[in-house]
Amino acid sequence: MDFKIDLHTHTTCSDGALSPEQLVQRAIDNKLTHLAITDHDTVGAIKIAKDYAKDRINIISGIEISTTWQDNQIHIVGLFIDENNSNLLDYIAKQNELREQRAKAIGDKLKRLGFENAYEDLKGNDTVITRGTYAQYIYEKGGAISVNDAFLKYLKKGKSAYVSTKWGDIKEAVECIIKAGGISVLAHPKRYKFTNTKLKKLIAYFKSVGGQAMEVASCSQKHGEREYLGQLCKMYDLQASVGSDFHYDGSFRFLGYNLDLNKDDKPVWLGRI
Ligand code: AMP
Ligand code: MN
Ligand code: MN
Ligand code: MN
Repeated sequence: MDFKIDLHTHTTCSDGALSPEQLVQRAIDNKLTHLAITDHDTVGAIKIAKDYAKDRINIISGIEISTTWQDNQIHIVGLFIDENNSNLLDYIAKQNELREQRAKAIGDKLKRLGFENAYEDLKGNDTVITRGTYAQYIYEKGGAISVNDAFLKYLKKGKSAYVSTKWGDIKEAVECIIKAGGISVLAHPKRYKFTNTKLKKLIAYFKSVGGQAMEVASCSQKHGEREYLGQLCKMYDLQASVGSDFHYDGSFRFLGYNLDLNKDDKPVWLGRI
């Protein structure tokens, strides 16, 4: 049987636009065989998605954990986790305290910039508030011409509503994922816009603390990028993962689209699905 797999996606439980049910339905419509849901610092969508999916598609339990490395925000995806693991749930609770404090602080800044009740409007929806959530909100309020524009105008590092946060170390996230029975994956390595030397330092650190895999295939990559990331996996003995990082339509990230690995990559799902 041919697999069609997407291992990095978001729902309304964090900053995605589709509910868990809608995301699963989209994945079924797109003929995916396996879908990992990897919301930011929450596993809230997993049970809902599994209940909705029944045996129509395989749902892989996942998460995307925010960490800080050398003052940069680095995302570590956990795949094949036990979403009920108590250590993981404690870790998530701590992350969400940090997120809540930051969301409030961003809300205060936005208030001064004319967005009266941004935090109040977004909180309490049982969703993890990210800068992506705020970008969507600003766009909907007419404060920007697109979600991306809202992000670049207000929320990016150095912009007027930016609030810096010290997330946990990569080591803590990796250990937490492994304790929950999962596989840790360095997310979207090229999106950090590091030099090749710095990216290798990041990967070497990730590997040294027990990191196991890295995303190699994503939707719209530059020519040669997938091959380069495949080589880095070999160099650091990492498995290769695939993921659209789908959040919402109109972002050039399509669920399950164009995610084939290079032929000699070691797929992260080998022996697990
Ligand atoms: P946070 O984890 O709260 O710092 O928010 C990061 C999230 O913001 C990412 O996961 C994206 O969903 C979103 N994001 C990052 N860059 C952009 C951008 N240029 N346009 C829109 N959303 C973005
Ligand atoms: Mn996001
Ligand atoms: Mn990410
Ligand atoms: Mn993501």
